[in-house]
Amino acid sequence: MAFDRFGRNIHYLRISLTDHCNLRCVYCMPEEMTFRPNAELMQDDEIVTLTRLFASLGFDKIRLTGGEPTVRANVVDLVRRIARTPGVRSVSMTTNGILLSRLAEPLARAGLQRVNISIDTLDPKKFHRLTRWGNVDDVWEGIHAAEEAGLTPIKLNAVVVRGYNEEDVVALARLTQDHPWQVRFIEMMPFAGATDIQVSQMVTAEEIKQRIEAALGPLEIANGGRLDGEARLFRLPGAKGDLGFIASVTHPFCASCTRARLTADGVLRMCLLREKEVDLLTPLRAGATLEDLRRLILDAVWNKPWGHGLEEGVIPLNRTMSEIGG
Ligand code: SAM
Ligand code: SF4
Repeated sequence: MAFDRFGRNIHYLRISLTDHCNLRCVYCMPEEMTFRPNAELMQDDEIVTLTRLFASLGFDKIRLTGGEPTVRANVVDLVRRIARTPGVRSVSMTTNGILLSRLAEPLARAGLQRVNISIDTLDPKKFHRLTRWGNVDDVWEGIHAAEEAGLTPIKLNAVVVRGYNEEDVVALARLTQDHPWQVRFIEMMPFAGATDIQVSQMVTAEEIKQRIEAALGPLEIANGGRLDGEARLFRLPGAKGDLGFIASVTHPFCASCTRARLTADGVLRMCLLREKEVDLLTPLRAGATLEDLRRLILDAVWNKPWGHGLEEGVIPLNRTMSEIGG
């Protein structure tokens, strides 16, 4: 097992399968985003090698993300290989859902267990504006395909951006009345590429909750008040699903963080919101032994930052969110 110097057991790895994406969400990347050439990204065998290594160090929980993980070539085969890795107990994916209507079933058969699907509004025009060209019907079909494929419990992610979708949180919350889904509202975090909007148009989890309560009445505490991952859970009275609030900016959950991130270009990042990184792909390609890589990983884990520095005004500016992997 891998522990950091604060005693946290780090066992959850988010692997970015690509920095490429089929949308351009305003809170994630600039419209004229340029992506890395494929040769700079981890190849399938490299991802499998590193996954094995992490699993041998006790990383048992894997989430595949991006960019948009479903646009990666051979994603189904890759998921199969990751899911079969000894020591890996859970494989999930965060996706914009656009391609899920045809991929949900094969991904589930390959061993994917769950998906988090991003949908920031149900309004087609607003969805198009937020994603710069997305069609919300594609996501909606993807959600249903995921449910039919058994990729449950379905979690829906909504980043809330002032001037874009802060009023839409009520309609999203209403979905939980009839569906056993967890709808999670995420405070927008600042990175490179879209920093202005990320800082000036952030809506707090508290405001989102108040908006929902003003329209639909008081929420009940769910999950005994405990965090579910990073989300604090509530429920509309009588609802089938839950509402989650992810207050990464105003109420960070750093003390209970068990995560590491492997970017699509093979760099280990121990905190989403800190610039410090350890390159694993370059040494792997240069012929480093598994033991060398193991030492690099354990050292990075040991030195995992305690938490982010947003309160002190420290914003990570070396990558966009899509280049890190959410
Ligand atoms: N493309 C996939 C998707 O959109 O679900 C996976 C990658 S995306 C970077 C992962 C998650 O990060 C999504 O739920 C997305 O909404 C969220 N996200 C993107 N930019 C963000 C930001 N600036 N602050 C908070 N969450 C953000
Ligand atoms: Fe693409 Fe996901 Fe970023 Fe939107 S949030 S631009 S879907 S990577």
